[in-house]
Amino acid sequence: MQPAILTQAPRCQAKTLAGTLCQAPAVSGRRRCRMHGRTNPGPPIGNRNAWKHGARSAEKRALLATIRELDRF
Ligand SMILES: [Zn+2]
Repeated sequence: MQPAILTQAPRCQAKTLAGTLCQAPAVSGRRRCRMHGRTNPGPPIGNRNAWKHGARSAEKRALLATIRELDRF
């Protein structure tokens, strides 16, 4: 018996040698099962290479804005 998470998973749509659909549970976040999916998941999500030093990150900008606001008094 499969765990509930596998019975609810989307089914693999790969075509088998017999011509039918595989229909094994797809790997989480993917559209194919563990036998039919490839190992390379593709490029990483987001532009991680744009990060240089974080001086203009949302976190740092919010901190500087707070300091500027407090500095007025
Ligand atoms: Zn499959």
